Amino acid sequence: MAQITLSNLAHTYTPEGGQQSDFALKEMNHIWHDGGAYALLGPSGCGKTTLLNIISGLIKPSHGRVFFGENDVTDIPAEKRNIAQVFQFPVVYDTMTVRENLAFPLKNRGGSKVEVQARVAQVAKMIGLDGILDIKARGLGADIKQKISLGRGMVRESVNAILFDEPLTVIDPHMKWELRTQLKSLHREFGHTMIYVTHDQTEALTFAENVVMLYEGEVVQIGSPEALFESPQHTFVGHFIGSPGMNLMAAKVQGNHALVGGHAIPLQGSYGNLSGYTQIGIRPEYIEFCGAEGLPCRIDRVEDIGHRRIVRTEAAGVAIDVVMPAGAPIDPTMTYLHFPAEKISVYKDHWRIEHGWA
Ligand code: ATP
Repeated sequence: MAQITLSNLAHTYTPEGGQQSDFALKEMNHIWHDGGAYALLGPSGCGKTTLLNIISGLIKPSHGRVFFGENDVTDIPAEKRNIAQVFQFPVVYDTMTVRENLAFPLKNRGGSKVEVQARVAQVAKMIGLDGILDIKARGLGADIKQKISLGRGMVRESVNAILFDEPLTVIDPHMKWELRTQLKSLHREFGHTMIYVTHDQTEALTFAENVVMLYEGEVVQIGSPEALFESPQHTFVGHFIGSPGMNLMAAKVQGNHALVGGHAIPLQGSYGNLSGYTQIGIRPEYIEFCGAEGLPCRIDRVEDIGHRRIVRTEAAGVAIDVVMPAGAPIDPTMTYLHFPAEKISVYKDHWRIEHGWA
């Protein structure tokens, strides 16, 4: 296993590409720790696969270097990087049994029979394949075949990293949940460095200790699921994480107040007089209805979604969502929105600003 260092890394697919907009990945410098579980999360086209392929060696970056531990692997081809990869669709040998499929990466590298057997048994048990080890892979469903692919990814102990590229795409929803949690416990058990690409926030947030949030080729935040929820460093993170995402409102920030549509909203500390495009953000979960003071609103509709209610409102000309527990009463006299000061994030040109206490 290895620490992965991305040093001044950037990539453009356009050979002569000099403009920032030509870059599928904008310059980044990061160290991903040995044994960490990372998710690369972001919408389609943000550069997740490009970054994964640079780490695996399928793509050589147009700028910068990649290190595994102390070794510069930028010029080393994929097959020599000692990594395991699990793709969107199962890669399984139909004519082999489940056991033979799991054993393949070990046998290929000359593992002894006893070692191979022991490791295959261990991985098969962890991933719930121990009951079907001697069945041929042909005829097994896509779910099981993808489990075999996951198992093959995990079976080698000495890999530098295991890379997963949207591995649960073909999996039934109920099985997705099971596999996600299994992957997490496999990570705890085996301690591999794992990098998991997904555009699904639930997958990323359940699996990873560290979520690398990509937006238009740029890493806009690396943090725990909690940090992404509580303190989004970029408005895109606020918007993308959560369901619904963070409410964002253009605001004029003056000292310890934000002015939204002529209403002063108290902030937790002082931000001075911010110039540029300033916004405040607050999660729908933290907004409260009250009878006076705050931002006057109009309730447009209420959506009951399982264990919660989403109240769609409009205030100061902006759509604002409020999340309440299921069955929480809606009082028609409570037509003001209160934003607890400690839950408000302030953004300047889309990046979060920390306050002072003056
Ligand atoms: P998806 O979730 O849709 O797979 P992604 O986040 O993995 O998207 P990438 O596939 O890395 O994004 O693509 C990043 C950008 O690079 C996109 O604008 C894409 O069009 C472009 N791109 C990707 N592969 C190539 C290629 N081989 N040649 C030219 N441009 C490419």
